[in-house]
Amino acid sequence: MLTFEDALEKLLACVPEARVVRVPLKEAWGRVLVSSIAADLDLPPFDKSFVDGYALRSKDVEVAPLKLQIIGTVAAGSQSQPSVTAGQAVQIMTGAAVPPGTDAVQMVEKTRRVASEVVEILEPIEKGKNMGPKGSEVGKGTVVLAPGTVVGPTQMGVLATFGYKDVEVYAAPTVAVMSTGDEIVDVGERPKFGQIRNSNAYILWAQCHNLGVEVTVFPTIPDDPERTRQAIAQGLEYDLVLFSGGVSMGEYDYVHQVLAQEGVDVFFHKTAIKPGKPILVGRKDKHMLFGLPGNPVSAFVTFELFVRPAIRRWMGFRAPSLRRVSGELGAKVRHKPGRKLFKPARTFWAQDRFKVEPIETKGSSDLVAFSPANSLLIVEADRTHLDAGQRVEVVLLDRYFDT
Ligand code: AMP
Ligand code: MG
Repeated sequence: MLTFEDALEKLLACVPEARVVRVPLKEAWGRVLVSSIAADLDLPPFDKSFVDGYALRSKDVEVAPLKLQIIGTVAAGSQSQPSVTAGQAVQIMTGAAVPPGTDAVQMVEKTRRVASEVVEILEPIEKGKNMGPKGSEVGKGTVVLAPGTVVGPTQMGVLATFGYKDVEVYAAPTVAVMSTGDEIVDVGERPKFGQIRNSNAYILWAQCHNLGVEVTVFPTIPDDPERTRQAIAQGLEYDLVLFSGGVSMGEYDYVHQVLAQEGVDVFFHKTAIKPGKPILVGRKDKHMLFGLPGNPVSAFVTFELFVRPAIRRWMGFRAPSLRRVSGELGAKVRHKPGRKLFKPARTFWAQDRFKVEPIETKGSSDLVAFSPANSLLIVEADRTHLDAGQRVEVVLLDRYFDT
């Protein structure tokens, strides 16, 4: 059976190439830039004052205190550029253009207005102080964001600074969610004997939604080869199809059989992980298809470990997997060697380190016990246990982490 690492590598290698779309700036949030972004102007765009005070010639105030004649005022956004000569100053506001002839700005706190047109400068000031020369932060034409950069709040600000009202990013794949199972009923129904409500449709919808992808949830598909075939055909109208259930070894688990019959190139079916062993990953043309195990915890975990990285790679993210940290284990964990275990845990910062409290559940159907988890504790396949107090590695579950 494939190890987790081999399976993930195989999966990432077969993610189709992303489409490029040009979107309005706000829609670029959380997306990855296709091309490099260059400054369309110098920054600051003009010699700019960083403080409120008086623009002056530093030479004039080598011996302070000293009085200067005020020949005008410039505010931020002001177009006026009074020309300053010896013995003169201009009252200036933060963000305003420093007038020609001046080479420093003395802050208002170090001055005293002695008459309407006279200011006393209380301290000398060095040339260039409290101002930023044109282009001193960024020169026009400089690359300010590299291709592959993820657009967060500060990157949005950079794009706005340089006039990118729209921008090229990688498109997110469209996703179809298809639950399978004769026993599955919708949330609004009261399950009859032998039936259960469909939790996976909501779990998977939320996980997709969290990644900012468009997701369509289909009505539940019965355990029937023909209906499964129809579902695959419908699913192929989307970039990525998520089946839940029907990939185990049961006689009525049709998804993997029908996928193979329908010409889906199955990259792997089963990996050495717990939970989630039966996961199936395949590709047909430019579509990716996943068969996720039906148990809700397995569906959730396999999405986080495999589907999420695939979607993020598709969207151009260079580091598509969840972040990991190490922390101190709060209680002993036992493990039957064989598969790599991803055990639910609560990870939190305690003074000087992360603490990891494992969560006990009744297995991969026990979503209720699992649900407070904000992380997955990794136990390597060959380990028999981990001791309390030892250093362990956890996968941080995005966005659920700070709850
Ligand atoms: P399967 O992978 O189809 O063998 O299903 C494994 C277990 O998960 C069974 O107990 C199913 O009833 C359960 N299951 C399958 N699909 C869902 C679903 N959409 N929501 C909740 N439980 C499910
Ligand atoms: Mg089933």
